[in-house]
Amino acid sequence: MEVEQDLTDRSADPAERLRGAREPTFEELRAFTEPRLVTEIPGPKALAIVEADGKVTSPSLPRAYRFVPARGAGAVLEDVDGNVFLDFNAGIAVCSTGHAHPQVVEAIERQARLLLHYSASDFYLPIYVELCERLADISPMSGPTRSFLTNSGTEAVEAAIKLARRVTGRQYLLAFFGAFHGRSYGSVTLTASNAKYHTGFGPLLPGVLHAPFGDLEHMRELIFRRLVKPEEIAAIVVEPIQGEGGYVVPPEGWLRELRDLCTEHGILFVADEIQSGMGRTGTMWAIERDGIEPDILLAGKGIASGMPLGAMVARAELMTWEVGAHGSTYGGNPVSCAAALATIDLIEKELGANAEQVGSGLLEGLRRLEAESDLIVDVRGFGLMIGVEFRSPEVADAVEEACFTRGLLTLRAGDATIRISPPLVITAEQARSGLRLFGEACNEVARLPGA
Ligand code: PLP
Repeated sequence: MEVEQDLTDRSADPAERLRGAREPTFEELRAFTEPRLVTEIPGPKALAIVEADGKVTSPSLPRAYRFVPARGAGAVLEDVDGNVFLDFNAGIAVCSTGHAHPQVVEAIERQARLLLHYSASDFYLPIYVELCERLADISPMSGPTRSFLTNSGTEAVEAAIKLARRVTGRQYLLAFFGAFHGRSYGSVTLTASNAKYHTGFGPLLPGVLHAPFGDLEHMRELIFRRLVKPEEIAAIVVEPIQGEGGYVVPPEGWLRELRDLCTEHGILFVADEIQSGMGRTGTMWAIERDGIEPDILLAGKGIASGMPLGAMVARAELMTWEVGAHGSTYGGNPVSCAAALATIDLIEKELGANAEQVGSGLLEGLRRLEAESDLIVDVRGFGLMIGVEFRSPEVADAVEEACFTRGLLTLRAGDATIRISPPLVITAEQARSGLRLFGEACNEVARLPGA
């Protein structure tokens, strides 16, 4: 406790004196349009925490760089040294309504005072019902749906695997190279974005096949003809836009063809919208752009603005599994449900539109940068789900680090892509500053020897 106070108290800090200002209020922090750096990056308190962390946390945590946040407001974060950053990450595409959105915080506080937990697996929670009704309203399925709520994305994927096998009586599952669906045994078997997720963990879940993303011919020729007939496949699990795999957009029309193929063979179409959903691409779900309906929809990440929650939403007629077939102690806990309801309200009311509008400006700006820079090989995406692909992983890493030292938080995805996934509340002005800093970071890296 003492250590914690020492590391977060800025009052006697040289950095505090250097900037000669009192700590910004929440509103002031939210209004920052530029980073404000008052120490070396990372600063001394951040370094102390990184060192302490290195002694007691699991070394498996894949830290991108030494950023140690203390406070957030909207699309702005302050680190433990009092440095102010612009956030193009949203905590891995999670903080959809921005940091500490007052309406979300208020909903969390209200629910926390009423009831923190009473397992929805064994009892009935009004707010759990309310959220499942809301998910039915906003889901991209036209008929009735039922939902199973979880604490995370990976649990929503596991629920879909179990339901798909159970309801179809089929064993096989098909996913795509480049996909990321989570790290528990079923979901990690579907994941095929990087061999490190599988190394040393085998044998994985039996009955999982992979096909190239965006290529139906390969699936027909090599999988259905040579390995497994489509009638034996329970579900095809697909991200409408691949997330961790590098913000990869499939060829136009491919998702529709995949949907038709599933319908033809009685395969369940599972849309993993854990990263691409909840307004991130400008529409509530990325799949809406293709005008197709999944059989099962998976949501997570941005659904509750940072509170742990995931959802498996299935066409009602698929939910035939009997009492006790699946459950969870915490899944759909009331506080997370309250955060989700407030989040959905905000996305529907204004944030989906903001993602579309600010995102299209960002996409344009990044495309201009691509035209000027030898380092960038592709810019793609929709809304505030934009991937900037670089010549090599080394270049992407160097740009990510150069952004960080300028006060802009970005995160790599796939082999050599930097993802741009800010909170959906980001303003046009904040996006423009971020874009400028991103361009400066690219220029710095272009000047490095060997770049
Ligand atoms: N599915 C997709 C598309 C994801 O991007 C992720 C996480 O990055 C997951 C599933 C797993 O979610 P979680 O990390 O909450 O378990």
